Amino acid sequence: MKKEPILPESRDTTFRDQVLKTHVGEKIPTCIQCGICAGSCPVSHEMDYSPRELVRMVQLGLKKEVLSSNTIWICTTCFSCSVRCPRGIHPTELMETLKPIAIAEGIINKNAKFDNVFSSVIKNNGRASEFLLISRYSMTEPRMIKQLPFGLEMMAKGKLPLSIDRMENTRELEAIFKLGEKGESKIENKEIKEKDREKDSDKEKEKEPQETKMQENENEKVEAKK
Ligand code: SF4
Ligand code: SF4
Repeated sequence: MKKEPILPESRDTTFRDQVLKTHVGEKIPTCIQCGICAGSCPVSHEMDYSPRELVRMVQLGLKKEVLSSNTIWICTTCFSCSVRCPRGIHPTELMETLKPIAIAEGIINKNAKFDNVFSSVIKNNGRASEFLLISRYSMTEPRMIKQLPFGLEMMAKGKLPLSIDRMENTRELEAIFKLGEKGESKIENKEIKEKDREKDSDKEKEKEPQETKMQENENEKVEAKK
């Protein structure tokens, strides 16, 4: 997989601090880059950056590269890396922490599509349905048309049931989704406020030289009158 070179100017310490302040961030500086997480990951071969690389990139504050990588969306949350890390770092939870930040930044990775379809199927039915997952994902991903003969073959063999197994009571599940959505909107609001503060401070900085110049002009006028 071809990767763009990472330049030193890509470093963003605000992003690094934002992640380090979260409940998973505390131990990230202690990573020894042993690679046990990457070696344990069943899907690292599909990732732009392995979990080990992602942890290092967070340490360096490589915001753009981290948030636009497919790694956070490819992770299956199997927890292999988290249970094996000798430093007690939780790369699994790091992925989950980075997803809402990427969404709040408006960074849409194509791998997020499956994540969205999966969440909506679970939210509506309480259980995963292979048929709903594949059919809805195919609508968002034209490449999936190539898989149609395979899907039909699976259906013919009864491996892709059309029946949807719904959960009887989805009240608790709805509460979990609401909590998640609340958390995401909190992050979004925080980001928007921080951006507004940065804009205000930039405007103040722009004003300062103008005000100084005006003051100098006034002083010159007073001196000339004397
Ligand atoms: S297993 Fe833990 S210490 Fe080792 S590279 Fe991964 S995150 Fe770092
Ligand atoms: S939790 Fe994610 S990153 Fe960790 S081993 Fe599993 S798939 Fe890989």
